[in-house]
Amino acid sequence: MRVVADIIKGAYSLIVGMGVTIRAFFSPVVTCQYPRETVNISPRFRSHTKLVGDPENPDRTKCIVCGMCERNCPSHSIKKVEGEKKEGEKKKTATSYILDFTTCSQCGICVESCPVDALEFSDDYNPVGLKREDFHYDLVKEYEKRKKAV
Ligand code: SF4
Ligand code: SF4
Repeated sequence: MRVVADIIKGAYSLIVGMGVTIRAFFSPVVTCQYPRETVNISPRFRSHTKLVGDPENPDRTKCIVCGMCERNCPSHSIKKVEGEKKEGEKKKTATSYILDFTTCSQCGICVESCPVDALEFSDDYNPVGLKREDFHYDLVKEYEKRKKAV
């Protein structure tokens, strides 16, 4: 009798297990073949910050080098915000903006405190590097690279 009970129990367990497998087989795929495929990033995702281009002059960013973000950053992650006033221009053009992403807490204070909306979070979800310095980004150079890639 015990053998028959075990067989029924085993068969029931097999059917339940197959049910789970079949349901998973036909349900929508939630994973992707990373790194050959990339995931859809939520608009609320925060990676490191990036400088936004000036719509009136795509050769420069919107940053006017006021230093507000550098002063307000609670982690002191923003350094060397420098720029120059080019001939015929009323505002300064940023030539250097170093973000130390190893200490940035992605709090967003810099983005919120910028008076000209020159900063936003990028969607770079897999920044990689072999040493700390690989995560020290010059956001002006990053902007120039993005511009060239378009
Ligand atoms: S997100 Fe916060 S911690 Fe990071 S650079 Fe901006 S102000 Fe500093
Ligand atoms: S607050 Fe804005 S405009 Fe001022 S230095 Fe920072 S990014 Fe540039």
